[in-house]
Amino acid sequence: MKEAMRRPLGSNSLVSLFTLGSMRAASSQEAMYSVVKEAFQAGINHLETAPTYGPAESFLGSSIKRLEQEGMKPEGGWVITSKILPGAEIKEGQRQIKKILARLGKSKIDNLAVHGLNLQEHLNWAINGDGAELFKWAKQENMVNQIGFSSHGKTSLIKEALSSHFFQFCSLHLHLFDQERLPIAREALREGIGVMAISPADKGGRLYEPSQTLLNDCEPFHPLELAYRFLLAEGITTLTVGASKPSDLNLVKRLINSANPLNPLENEVIERLKSKAEKRLGENLCKQCKKCLPCPNNVPIPELLRLHNLAVGYELVTFAKERYNLIGRAGHWWEQLNSTACKKCGDCLPRCPEHLSIPDLLEETHKQLVDSPKRRLWG
Ligand code: SF4
Ligand code: SF4
Repeated sequence: MKEAMRRPLGSNSLVSLFTLGSMRAASSQEAMYSVVKEAFQAGINHLETAPTYGPAESFLGSSIKRLEQEGMKPEGGWVITSKILPGAEIKEGQRQIKKILARLGKSKIDNLAVHGLNLQEHLNWAINGDGAELFKWAKQENMVNQIGFSSHGKTSLIKEALSSHFFQFCSLHLHLFDQERLPIAREALREGIGVMAISPADKGGRLYEPSQTLLNDCEPFHPLELAYRFLLAEGITTLTVGASKPSDLNLVKRLINSANPLNPLENEVIERLKSKAEKRLGENLCKQCKKCLPCPNNVPIPELLRLHNLAVGYELVTFAKERYNLIGRAGHWWEQLNSTACKKCGDCLPRCPEHLSIPDLLEETHKQLVDSPKRRLWG
């Protein structure tokens, strides 16, 4: 096993720079075993799972047991994070937590997170409602050490959750190509709250299958390597990586201790990426300032134009299409309205400091990205 760095995730866990997400290895018990074994050999000690990942928890529990019988166990043991969807009444929540532990074959796990704290009512449930009672009970019963949340929600909601001082860790969308939440992640880290980045490889732009243009723009690095390094150098506690086979962890093995600040070449390439994207977008670059909001028809203008930025500026077309075509199909996990909700009223136009022709750009975004609807891939 590799000697690997650990960082504190909240107040109770010391975790590796990468966390193995278990959703993509849930195809079979053997697939899970081989991926967890590879993770162990790479120096990973933190496993992330959820009841909604099909049989992942049971496969994970059996794999850990088998590896331990074979003498493979990280120093200090595995750190496990599982999640619970918000909204359950206390009795139901207690039943769910007991089932999580039973599937994992544990009497206790380190971390329990609210899975998808995406709406105000989810936060209310967790800190003032049945969720708060449930978490108190789980700690008193010595079933979990600390409580956190994952969120795909608005930045303002995440800020409110973090400032409640109720949570010891969080899982957020933090990406090289989407840095909106980076300031709140930095603030959380300063306050001792552990921060996990949700799948920089997949949710960060499907960076495992980049376009030739992006590959060229990132030379001499692979885009995924640059994305990982950017977050690690920022001090993000741990990055989740979803592997379906051992070789998916090859890059992680190389970067398992790469927490040093960005070197001059990395900085230069990141700057180059940005300026190339700005050049390609020209006067259509949306700077994501959100000053165009609110739209009387609730069009999520910045989010839609962010996808346009990604598709045109960075050639992340497949990713942008996947996200665009999920709109309205993923409940509270993603936006509800796409560009077709724009009624061309023009209200947003005087508010945009970049003088973007917003309705035209929205129409162009729709034409470029609309596709046959895709299935939701997480939750
Ligand atoms: S022009 Fe379209 S996006 Fe702008 S405010 Fe009107 S409906 Fe909303
Ligand atoms: S005001 Fe203009 S630049 Fe700012 S987010 Fe809206 S469209 Fe983009």
